[in-house]
Amino acid sequence: MNSVIQYFKDIFHGVSTLWSGMRVTGKYFVSPGEIVTQKYPENRATLKMADRFKGEIVMPHDDNNQHRCTGCGICEMNCPNGSIEVLTNRVANEDGKLVRVIDKHVYHLSMCTFCGLCVKTCPSDALAFGQKFEHAVFDRHKLTKILNREGSSLKKEVKS
Ligand code: SF4
Ligand code: SF4
Repeated sequence: MNSVIQYFKDIFHGVSTLWSGMRVTGKYFVSPGEIVTQKYPENRATLKMADRFKGEIVMPHDDNNQHRCTGCGICEMNCPNGSIEVLTNRVANEDGKLVRVIDKHVYHLSMCTFCGLCVKTCPSDALAFGQKFEHAVFDRHKLTKILNREGSSLKKEVKS
């Protein structure tokens, strides 16, 4: 007798879960505007990631090609897996005093775990997370990036 009851219980459970699923499908069928699933890669041109998305480390530059990196090396020291190398030079400023400037801020995307320590600990707020996420390459050397742009310089308001 118990097995017969269980049999009908299972049928009822199957029908009710099917009904729940069909209700969701029906809702999105009549209200397609509520669908949250992204049609990637068809929507590549308009795809906007969430602000907190961690795509890769970038060094923002302004319209004058100026950044906020003083070359202090703190991000390099704090990166747990050696994904950052800061190469610096000494150049004379307007007063003839030698000051440190970055030559290359090297970022190895292939080793980065996106922990965010470099962004959080930079005293000049020079680093950020970018939104790019399509990182597949045929040549792994392309995953090593120079974050400071060609000809860029330090913003005047940032103390080196
Ligand atoms: S990015 Fe920030 S922490 Fe790293 S070298 Fe530049 S100023 Fe220093
Ligand atoms: S996010 Fe973490 S692993 Fe990646 S470069 Fe910064 S400190 Fe290193």
